Amino acid sequence: MKVLSVASESVPLIKTGGLADVVGALPRALEAHGVEMRVLLPAYQSIRGKISGNALWQSDSFFGGSAAIYSHKTDGIEFLLLDAPHLFDRDGGPYNNAKGDYPDNALRFGAFCQAAVIVADGALSDGWKPDLVHAHDWQAGLVPAYLKLKGSQVPSIMTVHNIAFQGLAGPEMLRKLGLPKREFHSDALEYWGQLSTLKAGLVYANAITTVSPTYADELKTQQFGMGLEGVIRSRSSDLYGILNGVDEGDWNPESGEGFSAYSATKMAGKTKNRAALLEEFGLRNIEGPLAIVVSRLSDQKGMDLLIDALPRFFEQGGGLCLLGSGDVGIESNLKALSQRYTQQFGLRIGYDENLSKRMFAGGDAVLVPSRFEPCGLTQLYGLKFGTLPVVSSTGGLADTVIHANAVAIAAGVATGICFSRIDSLGLSDALGQLNHIYRDKSLWKLMQKNAMTQGLGWEVSAKKYLALYEEVLK
Ligand code: ADP
Repeated sequence: MKVLSVASESVPLIKTGGLADVVGALPRALEAHGVEMRVLLPAYQSIRGKISGNALWQSDSFFGGSAAIYSHKTDGIEFLLLDAPHLFDRDGGPYNNAKGDYPDNALRFGAFCQAAVIVADGALSDGWKPDLVHAHDWQAGLVPAYLKLKGSQVPSIMTVHNIAFQGLAGPEMLRKLGLPKREFHSDALEYWGQLSTLKAGLVYANAITTVSPTYADELKTQQFGMGLEGVIRSRSSDLYGILNGVDEGDWNPESGEGFSAYSATKMAGKTKNRAALLEEFGLRNIEGPLAIVVSRLSDQKGMDLLIDALPRFFEQGGGLCLLGSGDVGIESNLKALSQRYTQQFGLRIGYDENLSKRMFAGGDAVLVPSRFEPCGLTQLYGLKFGTLPVVSSTGGLADTVIHANAVAIAAGVATGICFSRIDSLGLSDALGQLNHIYRDKSLWKLMQKNAMTQGLGWEVSAKKYLALYEEVLK
């Protein structure tokens, strides 16, 4: 089976969040099941240098400039890179620069979706043509619409990694993107007077998936659907929640890449990593749990709740190493707190994957107090590294962490702490429980072992995607 995956990010070429981890993991996980997946990605400035060989397709007039598609294989992933310098060769990130979002994002990613349709039509010179297209998030949301509206025989699947990002644009974009005006109504492309590319994907795809079973249920509600709950409900028979996995090639405590290797049965390396992490962040006298946070700094991630709950945690003996970037208000509140608790709280503003791995390797617990969380990857990395997750009970967090209540402790199956009152008091109580459990060494060890030996790879979910692909192709 040939599948074209269409996404704006994928490891190892470009990453701003969990989307990139998942898009890069899927082709490797599905290969074992006979799926030949190619990943279409824009050739951003940081990627263009990797382009070589002859183009598989090219055009002199593609949304206001010339464009070409090249193949590029790396880390076992077959990429198709859309090179359109007038759209993607820019300083800054994939979606924005220091001044904010690029004003032409709707055009950039609409063009990207058209390139996916060109590939789906079989226009590549090497003859590769997908049986199915798998589109991810708003950046690829127009792919199902274009395919359906042109009567293509190639079916599509739309995956929602986060419904908060909806790809909104003014109605004037319809013409520029070659979308028919007759489809601009509330049952199709229109969202309160604007075009929503995510909604387009939800309406026209043959099936919809999201990244955890609980988030699939939550999306049907007003609280979590963010205005798209009606569309989601109308398509609930085609909606599937399939959990993300951990790419165990990249995220593995036994690899010892940049830290001392360890495993569920040989934990000595973790003790060394903890000492090294304390040293790296300049923390001292932490007799309680050493927590870590690796996160976008946003309200979604509950960083404001964390700021309120931390003083009590520090006063109870806990420590924290935090790596993140995002909202400037949250950044400055965190800075103020780190200046107040210099020995307990180490803060790094920025994005650094190697540092994040050292943190998972050396921390005792990872904190993920999200207000909503489609799947979440950092709690999965925490489980894998025996860095026990403290999570709010929402979305994929609720699906992947077994809360240490009396029943789970008695059954010997707990893997972390979940709190359902998602506010600073709820988090503060959860941190109190963390402190308590941390000091019960035999329970802590058992929970670490449970977490580290739980199956977290992609095997189960890859089979679910495969079954869905087969269903859609019937
Ligand atoms: P989201 O995609 O909503 O930001 P996820 O938990 O699904 O959240 O994925 C976030 C991914 O980005 C994880 O792989 C996490 O380790 C990584 N990440 C987030 N912030 C940073 C950072 N500042 N430095 C390094 N990695 C980060």
